[in-house]
Amino acid sequence: MASQINKSVAIIGGGPAGLMAAEVLIQGGARVDVYDAMPSVGRKFLRAGTGGLNITHSEPFGQFVSRYGSRRAQIEPLLKQFGPNDLQAWVHKLGFETFIGSSGRVFPVCMKASPILRAWLKRLQDHGVTFHLRHKWQGWNEDASLGFETPEGEMSLRADAVILSLGGGSWRRLGSDGKWVELLRQAGVKVETLKPSNCGFDVQWSEYFRERFNGQPLKSVILSFKDSFRRQGEFIVTRTGVEGSLIYAASAQLRDEIEARGKAVIQLDLAPNFSLEQVNEKLARQRGSKSLASHLERTVGIKGLKAGLLREFVPKKYLSDTPLLAKAIKGLSIPLVAARPLDEAISSAGGVPFEELDEHLMLRKMPGVFCAGEMLDWEAPTGGYLLTACFASGRAAGFGVLNWLG
Ligand SMILES: Cc1cc2nc3c(=O)[nH]c(=O)nc-3n(C[C@H](O)[C@H](O)[C@H](O)COP(=O)(O)OP(=O)(O)OC[C@H]3O[C@@H](n4cnc5c(N)ncnc54)[C@H](O)[C@@H]3O)c2cc1C
Repeated sequence: MASQINKSVAIIGGGPAGLMAAEVLIQGGARVDVYDAMPSVGRKFLRAGTGGLNITHSEPFGQFVSRYGSRRAQIEPLLKQFGPNDLQAWVHKLGFETFIGSSGRVFPVCMKASPILRAWLKRLQDHGVTFHLRHKWQGWNEDASLGFETPEGEMSLRADAVILSLGGGSWRRLGSDGKWVELLRQAGVKVETLKPSNCGFDVQWSEYFRERFNGQPLKSVILSFKDSFRRQGEFIVTRTGVEGSLIYAASAQLRDEIEARGKAVIQLDLAPNFSLEQVNEKLARQRGSKSLASHLERTVGIKGLKAGLLREFVPKKYLSDTPLLAKAIKGLSIPLVAARPLDEAISSAGGVPFEELDEHLMLRKMPGVFCAGEMLDWEAPTGGYLLTACFASGRAAGFGVLNWLG
């Protein structure tokens, strides 16, 4: 460890971003106190572990950084300092092996976050990081000190530098409730409203469809949206609409379209293994006395949920018109009418815009106050991109503080 620099740093928010900042700062010789509103830190990280903890992705760096879309220019420099390979090496050093899944996603072999978090917290505590739990930050007091609500009542404190790593606004029960948005706005910082990202969408199913297919997976379809999104995958039909990996991947575009135009119409190719001509030709074969349902199943493998979707969205007259039916199978239009609420989303878009920050992630209007993690205004699909950028920005903020404290 480096020699003490006798400066105190308050990190507010003990998720992956805040803990990574704490690691950098304690190694840099600062006195580090982590404050968190919850009775324990890293709750969203632990929740991510129930899905196997997809920590990062193994694709080439150029492709990896493209996942941050319009924020690539701001996230790329952070990932150049601490990217997917560094993150894997960091996990290994903590004592955990990783493996690359068939989709290129990277997971710890233990497929859980709890042992990793436990080992990490022990290392941080052994190095002198102090944790203050059940300390809910309430903003700045008139004398510019930090105000907290604690089980012992209100408390105020000062530090030589502050890192805010308060998370987004999804899954409030895990601690990040987005209440900080108003606190920063009151302090004069511009903050983009938090929006759901990697979220499900509402579809106005008929009562029959909802009862019959709620919870069923729609396997291997191609989802297209305008000319900007086309991907093969699967998703789940829910009581209210649709959710799951394929929907999440398109969610930013779909959400923005609904915001601008009131709805987003996706196109589903229900028979991705056949061309339109092949579907046409197969459907035109002699049906004899067979029902349409068994004809569809026998010729193009459409049954169950796929057949249900056709009946839900295709006008009745199409069902007896082979070319129209084939067209519907290769491009079924489904209108999405609303994004599911932020609290249900995997992550948040919006937050502190990079224009409000300098290159060390310090607020331009508040020297000595840094921001990191999901509370920054970027978004990315699932696939390990969220955690990777949270770790990388936490690390960058930590180094930013060391640099600022001189
Ligand atoms: C169900 C689910 C599964 C996920 N799976 C994955 C995955 O497999 N891979 C992946 O890359 N990402 C995944 N994510 C996303 C990932 O977990 C988050 O992006 C990441 O945890 C954000 O890190 P953070 O440090 O910015 O914020 P958080 O982890 O949200 O931490 C913020 C902390 O700040 C504290 N806090 C908030 N407000 C205050 C306040 N006023 N005072 C004091 N403390 C406060 C909170 O209690 C919390 O501990 C998943 C998310 C969810 C919900």
